[in-house]
Amino acid sequence: MGDILFADGRRYSREWLDTHEAEAQEVFRAHKHTYPLCLCQRDGVPMHIRELSRTGKLYLARMPMTGPMHRGDCPSYEPIHGKAEEQAREAGLIEELGDGRVVFKVDVGFNIREPAAVSSPPSPAELPQMVQNPQPRLGLLAMMQFLWEQAELHHWHPKMEGRRRYKQVYDRLTEAASRILVKGVPLRQRLYIPEPFYKEQANEIMMRRLEAISRLGRSSAGKRRRFLVMGQLRELEESSENVRLRFAQAGNDLSVVMPRSAWERMLKRWGVKVPEEDSDLGLWGMFLIEHFKGATLHSRAAAVMQTTAHYIPVFRPAEASLAYGLVDSRRRFIKMLAIDGRPSENGPAFLLTDVAEKPVPLYISNRELPAETAVDEWYWHTDRDDMWPPLPVPQSRRSH
Ligand SMILES: [Zn+2]
Repeated sequence: MGDILFADGRRYSREWLDTHEAEAQEVFRAHKHTYPLCLCQRDGVPMHIRELSRTGKLYLARMPMTGPMHRGDCPSYEPIHGKAEEQAREAGLIEELGDGRVVFKVDVGFNIREPAAVSSPPSPAELPQMVQNPQPRLGLLAMMQFLWEQAELHHWHPKMEGRRRYKQVYDRLTEAASRILVKGVPLRQRLYIPEPFYKEQANEIMMRRLEAISRLGRSSAGKRRRFLVMGQLRELEESSENVRLRFAQAGNDLSVVMPRSAWERMLKRWGVKVPEEDSDLGLWGMFLIEHFKGATLHSRAAAVMQTTAHYIPVFRPAEASLAYGLVDSRRRFIKMLAIDGRPSENGPAFLLTDVAEKPVPLYISNRELPAETAVDEWYWHTDRDDMWPPLPVPQSRRSH
């Protein structure tokens, strides 16, 4: 279990590959154009070797559409996140390519027609995240969650404790953004994420930021263009007309200004509250930038998402407390996302992946559920219990 079989007949455990970096790079290099088998299943699940664009490092990756084929407790296992993702894949809005890139058809326009039309149509991000008829569409919240999913920041393993910091999150998000294709170009060419801040490099970082913003805001032909900014919010300044938002890791010079009405409408629509000052939750935002002056960016459309201190997305207070509970009790799990903006309303909030071959879905419900629930499912009825019931015992802690 957990072994990878390479074309030369050799088997290596995932743990060995993870802990022997130099040797693992050699093994990957020798098998770059082959399909190593993950032996979590008896017949093996084919994988391939990819290269990180930034560092040239090689790593083992899943083949398109094979996430659900791995065993539930295999690190390469990835479920389909709800009906919405299933439908988006069926409709061709999400399409994994053989080389690790994935097409994501977001309903956001980056081109600006000048002069601006007199009556502007509703901004795409204001539209429902997924409309079945006549044409399904994916908006900004869908994109933010999909980026999280591609960066695998919704997976948690106890060994990540103390190691998941902003730097790692930034690296993973930018790597994922270079593989996601949006309107024919990598998302990375349309998106700015504040880089990790180091005091000694403050000036260089600021210069890079200004350079990136001016590059994002214009096409190669010099035409004004919309772009996206995503980051963890650290400060909200409200006036009667506008809100001004500032990002973690970025100086006060960088801010997004939004009409207060649009900001409040968006919070209400997705049921998100701005965390209190002393909260253990973080708030991430993705903003479509219309125009900018220096590093003051103007936006009318955005999506927001709360995360725990471990950068695990959570969509309700009960999910947040369970996420902390799972991390504290050293459990391994996957946070379920939903690209329709209504995560876990009907589906599970988490999958526990350390119990058995098959992951155990954790449901949180504030509605009366049928008395008969399947034995391999777990329910927390928040309408009658303040505390969640005992969790299934992990495989490693079971007595024989
Ligand atoms: Zn596997």
